[in-house]
Amino acid sequence: MGKARGRVQPGMSTRAIHSSHVGVDPGDPVVPPIVQSSTFLFSGFEEDPAEVRYTRYGNNPNQASIAEKMSVLEGMEASLALGSGMAATALTFLALLRGGEHVVASRFLYGATRKLLEEELPRRGIATTFVDPESGRDWRGAVTERTRVLFLELPTNPTLRVFDPRPVAKLAEREGVSFVVDATFGSPVNLRPAELGADAVIHSATKYLGGHSDLIAGVVSGSWGLIDEVKKMLRLYGPALDPHAAWLLERGIKTLGVRMERHNQNALELARWFEAQPEVGTVTYPGLESHPDHSLAREIMDGFGGMLGIRLKGGGAAANAFLSALRVALVAPSLGGVETLVSQPRFTSHRGLSTGELEALGISEGYVRISVGIEDVEDLRNDFQVGLEASRVP
Ligand code: PLP
Repeated sequence: MGKARGRVQPGMSTRAIHSSHVGVDPGDPVVPPIVQSSTFLFSGFEEDPAEVRYTRYGNNPNQASIAEKMSVLEGMEASLALGSGMAATALTFLALLRGGEHVVASRFLYGATRKLLEEELPRRGIATTFVDPESGRDWRGAVTERTRVLFLELPTNPTLRVFDPRPVAKLAEREGVSFVVDATFGSPVNLRPAELGADAVIHSATKYLGGHSDLIAGVVSGSWGLIDEVKKMLRLYGPALDPHAAWLLERGIKTLGVRMERHNQNALELARWFEAQPEVGTVTYPGLESHPDHSLAREIMDGFGGMLGIRLKGGGAAANAFLSALRVALVAPSLGGVETLVSQPRFTSHRGLSTGELEALGISEGYVRISVGIEDVEDLRNDFQVGLEASRVP
C-alpha cells in the first residue's frame, strides 16, 4: 500500500482501494484480472501440498485479494472469502465446534443463522442456548464447560438493535472461548468488531461489501489459526467463491467508503422524515434519539447504517398497500445494494417464525424493513410519500 502523507494509518477508503493491489511495473494492469481458472500449474513433486493452488481451496488470486483487503479493513490477521454469507457462518461454526460442544447465541439473529443453530447443528451434536443479548447474567448463566463459541449479530436483522459486544468479549476471554460477531449490517466502515474484542467477524458480502446486488459471497476474518481451520472446512465442504464473483466483490469493496457515507446520510434523513408522518407508528433507526440503543450506537459505530424499519399504524394491510405503491424503491429481500429495497421480514428473512416469536423480536404486522440505497434522497422521499398515501386506503 502506498504511503498516505500526514497519517500513520491510511483512511478506510484508501485501504479499501489499495490494500491488495499487486501491479508494480510499467505495463501491469491497474485492476487485477479475473483469474477464471479452477487449477494452477504445480512446480513438481516436492511442493508442499498446503501451497497447492486450487479454486476450491480459497487461494485463487481473486479470492486471496478479497482476503487481504478484508483483513486490512477489519484489522484482523487473516480472512477467507467464501461462496455466501451462510457458508461463512456455517463453516466458522464447524471449524470451532465438535459434537458435544455448545454455543451461546443472541436470540436476535438472521432467520437462516437461527435455523442453522436451532435445527442443523444439533443434528451434529452441537447445542445452542439463545440468550437476551442485553443481559450479562443471561450470557454468564448460559456458559457451560462445553461452551466454545459466543455469537452476536450487530446491528440485528431486521430490528436494528445494537448490543454492547464488549462485556461479551470479556466473558469469552475469561472463559477461554471464541467470540464471533456477524457484522453484516454494520460494514467495516461503520463498525469493526475486532476493536471491541471480537475474535472473528463474519460478513454476508452479498450485502454492503459487494454493494450492487449482483453477487453472493461471504467473508470470515480472525486469527491465522482460526482461518486455517475454516480453510480446512472449505476444502471438505466446498462452498468456494467463484473467481468472477470475487472480482466483482473486490470492485464493490473499493467504493465501500463513499457508498456507506451516502447510505448513512440518506437513511438518517429518511428516518427523521418518517418520524413526522402520521401513518407511521414507530421508526426504528439507531441514529434516532428515540432508538433504545442510540447512545451505544453513537459510542461504538462510526455511522448508523442504511437499514431502517417503520411500523405502519394500519398493520399488515397498510404495509401491503405501501409496498405495492412504490415506484423507485424495489420490493425485494436482501439489502446493502445501491438501490433501495423494501420488504416485510415476516414474509422473507424471518418467515416460519410464529406470531409470538415475531412479536418478541419486534417484528409486528405492519413492520417494513427498508434498505436505503444511494439514490437522490428527494426521489426516495417522494416515492415513500406516495406509498404512505396508498397505505391509508382501508
Ligand atoms: N447474516 C445476515 C445478518 C444476513 O442478513 C444474511 C442474509 O440476509 C446472512 C448472514 C446470509 O448471507 P448470504 O445470503 O450471503 O448467505
